[in-house]
Amino acid sequence: MAVRAVTVLGSTGSIGTSTLDVIARHPDRYSVHALTAHSSVNDLFEQCRRFRPVHAVLGSAESAAELQTLCRGEGLAVQVHHGAQALNAVASDDAVDTVVAAIVGAAGLLSTLAAAEAGKRLLLANKEALVMSGQLLMQAARQSGALIMPVDSEHNAIFQSLPATETGVSTAGIEKILLTASGGPLRNLTLEELAVVSPQQALKHPNWSMGPKISIDSATMMNKGLEVIEACQLFSVDVDDVQVVVHPESIIHSMVSYADGSVIAQMGRPDMRTPIAHALAWPERIDSGVEALDLFKVSGLHFEEPDTTRFPLLRLAFEAQRAGGTAPAILNAANEVAVAAFLNGDVAFLQLSALVEQTLECLKISPASDLSTIIEADSIARGTTQRLIAQAAA
Ligand code: NAD
Ligand code: MG
Repeated sequence: MAVRAVTVLGSTGSIGTSTLDVIARHPDRYSVHALTAHSSVNDLFEQCRRFRPVHAVLGSAESAAELQTLCRGEGLAVQVHHGAQALNAVASDDAVDTVVAAIVGAAGLLSTLAAAEAGKRLLLANKEALVMSGQLLMQAARQSGALIMPVDSEHNAIFQSLPATETGVSTAGIEKILLTASGGPLRNLTLEELAVVSPQQALKHPNWSMGPKISIDSATMMNKGLEVIEACQLFSVDVDDVQVVVHPESIIHSMVSYADGSVIAQMGRPDMRTPIAHALAWPERIDSGVEALDLFKVSGLHFEEPDTTRFPLLRLAFEAQRAGGTAPAILNAANEVAVAAFLNGDVAFLQLSALVEQTLECLKISPASDLSTIIEADSIARGTTQRLIAQAAA
């Protein structure tokens, strides 16, 4: 069996470390070509010691120099780089077979696109890239022959619940995609209680341990909104064929309902190593380190309709996808700025949806036909949301 060379973009994050945990179990199958982080020099150094990549990439020249010194001290031959071009290079390098796109937010867009254009097996965790530029990304993959494997647990579950073809999956005969949502840590709070939620409360997810941005998105249900758009792009379905089902236990990771009344679901423990291992090895199966699901210990499976009065970002995401063009990119950019402000203590929890809604109302939607239009929409939306935050504080 040939050993596959893997680049992990965002290797020090929650998805990145889970990916390396799976890779470490299979040295006969995978080698690490490149690891990247924004500014976590020490974490990246530890990973370099353990996984001996050919390349490591950081966000700035200073942090790259720091890592270089540490690596030299240990006699590690890793080549250290910094910046966006280096990310694109390690995502598209001929020596690489598989790229794990696990950078958070729009910052991951260009390197994710570079991997798609270069025809890699692309393990897609960075949902924001797909929300911003779904059409371009899917088109690039079709042209180059890149295989996009969803890592997001719901989309990986949908992939597993669809009939496999030589090159992926088909959506023949499907009636609806049933996208499950845990409902997040604030699922049962009233609007009055939501008004005074602190970042610490919002960060505490009951079932999953994740990076800070996606944890806040789970608390507002924007994560599910982004995932609705992600499902439309990945599986070429209409937004009205995606139904969100709140399932607090996070045992069923999503379902597909078929024309004949069949519903196929994928189940497992809430541990990202399962979808990561599936996406790495498909169509084979490998050990992920996740224990088997003990159905006798699962107390029950519950399902509810989502409440878009308390969680309006879910409704806004549906509307943005219906509007099309640059609307999803504007929605995403406004949300990224609002989440950073909430984590910083600058805005209240309920302002998150208000800021995204106001940003969408302020801006003109254009066709998302090329990258520069999308990047411009992203940048204008960021400026608009920042202005709205400053006005509210004044
Ligand atoms: P995280 O914050 O834990 O990690 C982010 C990684 O990206 C880190 O390695 C960080 O150094 C790097 N990074 C951050 N900003 C960067 C920048 N400007 N330039 C380059 N690198 C940068 O995030 P996470 O929870 O691992 O999520 C990563 C992506 O996966 C997100 O898009 C998220 O929505 C998606 N995702 C995460 C989970 C999960 O369980 N954590 C599940 C599904 C999807
Ligand atoms: Mg998910």
